[in-house]
Order: sequence, then structure tokens, then C-alpha cells
Amino acid sequence: MKDFKYFNSGRGPALQPIDIGHDDYCALIEPDTAFWSLVKKNQLGHILSDADFMDSYKVKMELFEKEMTNLRRNLKPSAVYFNPTDRCNLNCAYCYIPKEIRKNGDHMSLENLTRSLGILKDYFTTTIPEGSNRLPQIIFHGSEPMMNKDAVFAGIEKYADDFHFGIQTNATLLDDDSIDFIKEHKVGVGISIDGPTAEVGDRARVNWDGQGGAFEKAASVIEKLKDHAGFNVICTVTTENMRHLTETVEFFHEREVKVCMLNVIRCTQEHSRCIKPEDADVAGHFLSALDRAYELYEQTGRKLIVANFANILISIIAPTARRLMCDISPCGGGRCFFAVSAKGDMFPCSEFIGLPEFNGGNIFKDDIDDVLQTDPFKKVTGRDVDTFQPCSNCAIKHFCGAPCPAEAYEMNGGMDKIGAFCEFYEEQTRYAFRVIADEKVDAFLWKGWDKDTEVVYDISSLI
Ligand code: SF4
Ligand code: SF4
Repeated sequence: MKDFKYFNSGRGPALQPIDIGHDDYCALIEPDTAFWSLVKKNQLGHILSDADFMDSYKVKMELFEKEMTNLRRNLKPSAVYFNPTDRCNLNCAYCYIPKEIRKNGDHMSLENLTRSLGILKDYFTTTIPEGSNRLPQIIFHGSEPMMNKDAVFAGIEKYADDFHFGIQTNATLLDDDSIDFIKEHKVGVGISIDGPTAEVGDRARVNWDGQGGAFEKAASVIEKLKDHAGFNVICTVTTENMRHLTETVEFFHEREVKVCMLNVIRCTQEHSRCIKPEDADVAGHFLSALDRAYELYEQTGRKLIVANFANILISIIAPTARRLMCDISPCGGGRCFFAVSAKGDMFPCSEFIGLPEFNGGNIFKDDIDDVLQTDPFKKVTGRDVDTFQPCSNCAIKHFCGAPCPAEAYEMNGGMDKIGAFCEFYEEQTRYAFRVIADEKVDAFLWKGWDKDTEVVYDISSLI
């Protein structure tokens, strides 16, 4: 156990007090280990010299340090975002794949798709311990994977015992037979839908003739998949729909969706930045949507989990249980997962597929371990929140992660720059601490979230 006599001087850890917008509590955070405690505002001065508090910090410090080091340095790939085609039947305003590729690109052939799954199967035997009950994940991702449905479904059938499969789709090409296949093969599925009505939902999601229609189709598919395990809906939040987030939550809840993501737009591509909301505006609408999800749970007993917020909440209370890897630094791109394009090219994350300088190699020609060590991958895996301002001084850096390296690089001029939505992440984290202070954690997380998980807080011990 490390020894020190005082907080904030000498060898003592630096504890930063944070206003979380709560009437009674503020948070004390040690940024490097992400140790935290909620403290009554009128006890703040007293706590720094409280011997019991210091002892409890000393006991917990090693656990926090170990977890943070594991999460940030020791994880190995366990998933692949796999683009089975370049093409998409839609032309959404915020897509991260350049238009020319989506319109005129290639499908991966059935032979190449099954061949690459075979290569990945062999590779994952080296990263996932033998005897583990965890299968590696393949997420078929966009452009629109269902444009190459026959190859995708053949791959799923052939490797059903080797991977846990998921499909991220705009839903427009999902017919009843496809839905039956997805259910029968227990494929996870995420459907994109951007609002509570066609008028809102189709503003940024149109076909190549500029016409809507995606909303109606996605809404009808929700009805058919709502009870399927591993089903979720994804709403990309832009200037076009942020004012309707509360109604969007109501719409999802009414249709008995269990998990949604309200993902603020990624600003990697210049065209996406035309519909980038201001931080403070999007934060306000997002938090109102969380309030509404909570109210609906209180009224009906039925939860709608907002998974991207749940991930931030869980990163505070049980860091090893986090499921999404954007809000840790380095992020998951290139170290917990990587992306494979329709040509077999490998990128640290799908977000980089439109940026040729981040192509690290090709799955058919190169050794995967070698690709992970290439400069394009290292640029991403080496982006460390501790090494650039203002994030290195930020108390919540390990709950936010300063996403996203692709945005930092393309929008702000380098990997050592901040991402696109600092204040948005700040406000989410403050909200998460209020949820903890008000003992509402269970309302925002999936059932069994604490099973097999080391929980690092105990509300009864808050000072
Ligand atoms: S932060 Fe960006 S690059 Fe990293 S995993 Fe998330 S989307 Fe991908
Ligand atoms: S982006 Fe903002 S909130 Fe996130 S770590 Fe950086 S300074 Fe902190």
C-alpha cells in the first residue's frame, strides 16, 4: 500500500472537487486512477483531513489503479466491425464513408467473406483464452450490410459456433425471411432510426434521390424485433432531430424497445459538421431525454436503457463492466477491436474507413498482429488522454475518454487535440453522479448489470 500523509501535496494523491449540480453533494475525484467519492458539500474541507476517509482511499487505490491499467493497456482484440460491402442504398447526411465509395464501391464476394471469417477465427484463438465461454464478435456494419445479404447470411451459417454475430442496418432491406433468419441464428441487430416521426427521422436519412421512407420501414421492423434478444435502436443526434429527443424516447418506449443509443453525430467528415449541434444545446436535449426515460420507468415499470449513457454511468461505478469503448483512453479502436472493409483492408475503427492514411494492411495479405503494430494503428492506440490539454488536467478524463481520435485528427488538426463534444461529455458525467447521489442507478442500467462485476461504490458509505 502506498504511504502518504496528506492529500494534494508531497506524495499524496491530487483530489479534485467537482460540482455535479446536486443540492447536497459534490464529487471528489482522483483523475489518474478514477477513484471518486461523493461528499456532502458542507463536509468538503473536513474530508481532506479525515483519517477514515484517507484509509478507505488507501485500501481502494490499488484496486482502482489495477483496473485502470488493465482497461487502458492490457486488453486484446475480441471483436471486428466488418463491412461486407462498400455500398449503401441510402445517402445519409452524416455517413463516415465517402459518397463515391457508397455509391459505386464493391461487395465482398462470398468466397472472400467466408475466407476472412476463417482467418479471423484462427486469429482469435490467440487473443481469447482457451476454455473461455466468450465468443469473439463480428458486427456486420455499414455502408449497408444487407446489400450483400446472401454472403453475410452464408458466413453466419458457416461460422455459427465460432462467433457471436451482430448486424447494424438501416432496416430498409429486412424482409420477413431475413428477420426469421436473424431470430433463428440469434444474431444481434441494431437498427438506425433518427426520430419519433417520418418528418423528423428522415431529415438526414434519405435515399440517393433525396427521398425519405427509411423511418417507416425501420418503425415496422421494430415491431417485429422488439422481443428479440440483442435488439437495439440507434438514433444519431444532429441539429435536425435534437429538439425531438424526448419524443424519440417516448416513441421507443411505447414500442417496447428495451435498449437504444442516442449517439451524438461523429464529426470526422466535413459534410457531417454541417449538422453538428452546439455542445450545450445537445447536452440539454440529451439530459431531458434521460429524465423522460426515468419518468417512463417510474410510471410503467418498464425500462428503456440509453446504452451510451449507461456506459458512462457504469464506467464510474463498475469500470470493468463497461461495454462500449469510446469513453476510455486510448479508445477501443485498434486494440479491443478493428474494422475490415469490403476489400479486406484493415482500419483501427470503422470511423477511419474514409481516411486512407489509416489503412494498416489487408486481411488477405498481412498478418493481423503485424497490422496492429503499424503506424496507422499506433497513431490511434497511442492517443492518450494524459498527454494533451485540456484533457490531461480534466478530473473526469477516465469517464469521458476524450473521444474521438478520428474527430480530433480530422476536425481539430491532430491526435493531440480534443474531440468534438467536450461539454456534452462533461454534462453526462455530472448527470451520472447525480443519479448515483439520488440512488437511481438501477433505473438506468440493464438487469443484472452488477452480476460478476466488482462494484466500486456503496451508496450507504457516502459521506
Ligand atoms: S472513439 Fe472513435 S475511433 Fe475510438 S472506438 Fe469510438 S468511434 Fe472508434
Ligand atoms: S473532452 Fe472534455 S470532458 Fe472529456 S476528458 Fe477532455 S476536457 Fe475532459
